[in-house]
This record gives sequence, structure tokens and C-alpha cells, in this order.
Amino acid sequence: MASSIRDEFERFFHSNSMVATYKPMFLKALLDLGDFRDDEGSQWVKDDGDNLVVDLEFVAARFIYYSHPLYYKFKLKQQFGIMTVLSYKIFEEFDVFKPKNKVSKKEFCKEEYKDARIRLIKDGISKTVFPLLLKDCNIYKPIKKSKMFTFSKDNALYVKQHKNQLTKALNHELSLFLGKFNNSPNIPSKLEEKQKRPNLNKKDSIENIKIQNSKCFYCEKPGKEFAQDHFIPWNYVYLTEKHNMVPACVTCNSSKHDSLSSKNFLEKIIVRNKKLELSAGYSESSMRSEWENCRLGYHGENKKLWTPKNTTK
Ligand SMILES: [Zn+2]
Repeated sequence: MASSIRDEFERFFHSNSMVATYKPMFLKALLDLGDFRDDEGSQWVKDDGDNLVVDLEFVAARFIYYSHPLYYKFKLKQQFGIMTVLSYKIFEEFDVFKPKNKVSKKEFCKEEYKDARIRLIKDGISKTVFPLLLKDCNIYKPIKKSKMFTFSKDNALYVKQHKNQLTKALNHELSLFLGKFNNSPNIPSKLEEKQKRPNLNKKDSIENIKIQNSKCFYCEKPGKEFAQDHFIPWNYVYLTEKHNMVPACVTCNSSKHDSLSSKNFLEKIIVRNKKLELSAGYSESSMRSEWENCRLGYHGENKKLWTPKNTTK
């Protein structure tokens, strides 16, 4: 008797042998087969009675969608050293990825990404993960000599009903894997599809501004309204914590964007933080190592650190 999809997922989470992120990403893509939107790849899914007949482009579009923020936004490595995984390589190979901010599933299902999807299928997905994953999780059937597979409607119903738990479990596998190559904090949150960016609470913002004598933390321009800037960039820390928040004028805030500021500001924030009441998890050395990890793993070792354009000094 064929084992149930539940047993197959059970087997995957026990026997999982990951050498790249391909296996959990492939499964994450399959989870969409229960409830995808028409404009998110319905052209690649045909109803064949008891089964769905699916083109691998459905999967490839999702690989791109999941990998895109990991590469551009969070700058997470997927391997040691200078080797690059194929899903990252295609971001550099295809000009269509140049506008980096447009990230949606719908977008990556469009015709203009076809070449990138096909390259990913041809040189990555079909050769490795597509046949190999079946050893760990036998829930789809490749159709010989094509880039298609069948997925039963029963399985589609199962993944629809269990999508949240399965997504979380697969993200957990991905986090463990990415954690081997990255010092980046909060990797599990970075894999969540819906991402929230919380603000510092009012009381703490007011306190932070007061300590700075109502001047911008960076250029020291006095003012009334300040943005609360993540000193170590948001896309790296992915948390809003008092010790990492400083008031910044509009000019500094927009020019700094997601870069790391120069070391003199690290010294300045360490002195500032001595005046704040902070959670037990904070220490001067944790601040220093986070700054350094961010410099190496996110900002870029050889990239110039940010300094304000105008200072009143
Ligand atoms: Zn400023």
C-alpha cells in the first residue's frame, strides 16, 4: 500500500539530508498546489480527473520568489566560501532581476521571467531535487521526458489543510541549514512570507530623543520630528529593540537606508546605551559583535561605512 502524504512528510522531516535549500523549497512550492491564485501560475496546473498535472515552472517561479529576499534583502549565504547556488546565480545572470524591489509571486510567474525559470529547471531542479526528493518524500510523480509531474488531488487537499504547520516546519529546516553559513540574527522570521516591521513604542522613542537633546544622532542637527532609525540595519537585525534605535533626521535616515554607519557611531551608541534601562540580553560586547557580524555578513567587508553628509560640527 502506498504510504500517506502525512507519513511521507514525517519521513522527510526525519531522514532529511540537505546539501542545499532545494528540497524544502521544492516542498514549500508544492504546498501552494492546494490554494494558488489564478495569476500565480494557474497556466501550469491542469486538472486531470484525480490528479493535477503540474509544470515545473510553477515550482521554479516559487523558488525565485523564496530566494529573492534571501539574496537581495537579507544577503544570506547558502554555501561556504565563494561558491554560489544556482538560484542565486540566476539573479546575476538575468537582467530582468535588476529592479530589486518588486517581489511577488505573481511577478515571478510572468512571461519576462521565463528564461530564468527555464534555466533554473534545466540546470538545477530537474537534475537534482526533482528525482532525488522522492527518496525522502514520495508525494509526486514525474512524467517521463517532460518537465511535468502529477500531484493527486487528495494530496492537494492535504497540503491546503495543513499549509501553516508544514510551512513552519519547512522554514525551520531552512533556518537550520542557513544558520550554518550565516551569523545573521532571526533567520526564521526572515523566511516568513508576511513580514511586519514594528515601531519603537512612543515612550522609548521620546526617551531616545531626550537623551540626544533633540538632535539627530548622526549629524546632530536639532529638530522636532525624528525618524527612529535602526542603528544596525533592520534587514539585518530584523528586530526593533530599544538599544538599537536612534533618532535620525530625515536627511540622515533616508541616505543611510540599510547601510551600516562608521565605527565612531558604534562608540557613540555604546555610550548612549549606558544611559538606558535595557533588557538583560543586552551588553556592550553583544553590540560590538553584532556590529562586526553585520559589517562582514551584510554590509560588506570592503564597502565604505556610512557617514552623514552634513554635520553641524
Ligand atoms: Zn541627521
